[in-house]
Amino acid sequence: MIIILGAGCAGLCAARRLQTRGHKVLLIEAEDHVGGLAGGIRIQGNIYEYGPHVFHTTDPQILADVKELMGADLIPYHRTIQIKFLGNYFQFPLSISDVIFKLPLSTVLRAALSFVLRAVEVWICRPKIETAETVLQRYYGDVLYKIFFKDYIQRVWGIAPAEFSPSFARERIPRFNILEVAEKAWALLSRHLGSGHAVRTEGYVEKVAGDLYTTRQGFSLITQKMADRITAGGGKILLQTKAVLIRREGQRVTGVRAVQEGKENMLDCEAVINTLPINEIALAFTPGLGVEVEEQARKLRFRAIVFIGIKVRRTRILRASFMYFREHSFNRITDLSYFGFKIEPQGSTLLVAEIACDPADRLWTDEAMVKEAVVADLLREDILTRDEIEEMHVFRAQHAHPMYTLGYERALSVLLEEFGKFHNFETAGRQGRFQYINTHVAMKMGYEAADRLADKI
Ligand SMILES: Cc1cc2nc3c(=O)[nH]c(=O)nc-3n(C[C@H](O)[C@H](O)[C@H](O)COP(=O)(O)OP(=O)(O)OC[C@H]3O[C@@H](n4cnc5c(N)ncnc54)[C@H](O)[C@@H]3O)c2cc1C
Repeated sequence: MIIILGAGCAGLCAARRLQTRGHKVLLIEAEDHVGGLAGGIRIQGNIYEYGPHVFHTTDPQILADVKELMGADLIPYHRTIQIKFLGNYFQFPLSISDVIFKLPLSTVLRAALSFVLRAVEVWICRPKIETAETVLQRYYGDVLYKIFFKDYIQRVWGIAPAEFSPSFARERIPRFNILEVAEKAWALLSRHLGSGHAVRTEGYVEKVAGDLYTTRQGFSLITQKMADRITAGGGKILLQTKAVLIRREGQRVTGVRAVQEGKENMLDCEAVINTLPINEIALAFTPGLGVEVEEQARKLRFRAIVFIGIKVRRTRILRASFMYFREHSFNRITDLSYFGFKIEPQGSTLLVAEIACDPADRLWTDEAMVKEAVVADLLREDILTRDEIEEMHVFRAQHAHPMYTLGYERALSVLLEEFGKFHNFETAGRQGRFQYINTHVAMKMGYEAADRLADKI
């Protein structure tokens, strides 16, 4: 039997692929539901998501698999995003026209000058130390970088852009220059010519590309249907079960210790696919993986998010499906009425506000405080009135975003190299490979890890 740690998109797809290759699978999942970050939480008849998830991909195999799985339950969705800043609403990714027409003329001129100066400077000499800050200054020029990114990144991520690796900017933030426009035009042309391409999972740059889809139960219906297929095929899923230790003999994994309802069990296995945070799993091996590996594992950090779900007595509240704010307690808020969700009772909608923080912050622990902070900001923004609020719920994701801090690449490669020495262990997914990826790439990583494992055991 092969044990898969974590029943998010990566774990579910790994399990399904192993089943199709004739293996018995057991999934171990800490939560009481499958789906991980892409799963929904059912509260009093409604489903709240960890920030509503939209399915999209340009990978033909993943798209075909999800369409086959979902049939008519997969429904097209049109995404709208607005960023409120300096009293104006901007589109994201930043458009040249918004910058020209919505910023004061003097700022636009300074921005254009700084963009040109930065381009010339970089053309003459590259910065000695490349960080996310130097990359963003190059993409946007100093003036726009300061206006749109510097303080915002510090607030959302808790550290300054100069402390991030350049990969953070390259993988996460779209460029704003002539090359980007050319790249978009080419992508559009290729799509019209029908040349869909398979997505590479490593070195993936986060992009929302391809048609967008949702379901009447949000993304959670996709992961639930994946889980149903696995159990229908004879696979087992243990919910509310936490993997706490990986037993090894030399370069072979022989068992996983799991805790369910306070009881510990050692489960023997033929092999393991991990999708849990790579740093935590590296520290869970017994005997340990050595001082160097453990030291590097402790260097990797994740950013947490506290979600505040609000049921409001009105069919639609926000002017776009996603809205970003810079001065409020939450940096993003979504209105689920845009996502095709079935919301009970009729005539109401669900909002989900996201506050980035660390588990050591008061924001993580003090529910009353975060609820009040969000309501105060919604009132200030004239988005709703206090008596329209019917319910509020707080839920959390401790490992929401891998943090690409300076030098993280070395720590990550030490761990991946160590895991590469094992004959029957693979690691995959957003947490498992510490990569800022979307669901379709997590799915693909699950398939790829299953194939690598099945080929070698
Ligand atoms: C706010 C937010 C919005 C997003 N929006 C989108 C979007 O719109 N579209 C999109 O495509 N992608 C989106 N993503 C990315 C997407 O959520 C992830 O890429 C994807 O869900 C990752 O799947 P995974 O299986 O790799 O990891 P996870 O979903 O994190 O799965 C890991 C699983 O392991 C479990 N686990 C952890 N520790 C243990 C343990 N000790 N024992 C047992 N189980 C354990 C967890 O409970 C979890 O279920 C978003 C991410 C965030 C944070």
